[in-house]
Amino acid sequence: MKKHYPIALSIVVPVYNEEMIIEELARRMSEAARSITDNYEIIFVNDGSRDSSLEKLKVVCSKDSKLHYITFSRNFGHQIAITAGMDAARGEAIVTIDGDLQDPPELIPEMYKQYQDGYKVVYAKRSKRRGETLFKRVTAKIFYRLMARLVSFEIPLDVGDFRLISRDVLEYLKQMKEYDKYIRGQIAWLGFKSTYVMFERDERRFGTTNYPFKKMLRLAFNGITAFSDSPLKVATKLGFAVCVISFLIGVYALWAYFMDARTVPGWASTIISITFLGGVQLLSLGIIGEYISRIISNVRNRPLYVIDKSTLDDVKDEK
Ligand code: UDP
Ligand code: MG
Repeated sequence: MKKHYPIALSIVVPVYNEEMIIEELARRMSEAARSITDNYEIIFVNDGSRDSSLEKLKVVCSKDSKLHYITFSRNFGHQIAITAGMDAARGEAIVTIDGDLQDPPELIPEMYKQYQDGYKVVYAKRSKRRGETLFKRVTAKIFYRLMARLVSFEIPLDVGDFRLISRDVLEYLKQMKEYDKYIRGQIAWLGFKSTYVMFERDERRFGTTNYPFKKMLRLAFNGITAFSDSPLKVATKLGFAVCVISFLIGVYALWAYFMDARTVPGWASTIISITFLGGVQLLSLGIIGEYISRIISNVRNRPLYVIDKSTLDDVKDEK
């Protein structure tokens, strides 16, 4: 039977060193939520902030029973902060939104409308990224397109972690307890009917980005290794290529040995064994890679399939 969730809308906000804007965050998030329903909750996740974000959060949460906070013992990172907030959420629809006001809360009502129209995943898609360096924009673009080529399911382009998901999607997402998280990828992997609303991403007004290049690279690498085996397959492909080359060199070496005495003695056997061994080693690495990829997919323990709707639920409901 379908469980009933007490809250209509949960908003999850990761917060890391955002002391300057906590009050504004709380106010604008609440206004956006109130324009949808009175039955909402806002969950701030303080990811080990080193400034006074926590104190400020305590103050705003004590004034309003719809506001809650979770605070980590140290900094665990953005993806984990969102995960903790979603685990705690009690809503039927769950929105995740950055706590630096780069994602406008005012977009949430529009996203909620799409959800009411039957979409289970509603992405906020960035049409412009103001105030971000050309370098960040270009690398992001390349990465998303590379990712789309490497994985076997549809990956939405130019979306971040500002999105609304329905309870069904969240329950499946919770089953995917992977350590190196790339939540966008997990949600895309799950499938479900999805759509997007466009917005222009604002500049960050206070503080600095907490995603320096190193962290971005880490996230991108997680995204690719979590959803694609292509890097592992490189060894197999290289192995094949080297074997073919080795064969060709072998033929040439034999030809040179028999037809043309100008080669140094020993050259033919040396070159043949070097290229042959190189090919064999790469191929063996490739085979090991194939097994590793199977181990990974089992260790990840993802759900084997994802059900959108089953009429068996209705049967149970009638009882
Ligand atoms: N954040 C977090 N933990 C971190 C880094 C960031 O919870 O270790 C939060 C941060 O407060 C913000 C969101 O994640 O609400 C996105 O971070 P940021 O704005 O630095 O990323 P960008 O917008 O530059 O991609
Ligand atoms: Mg930001």
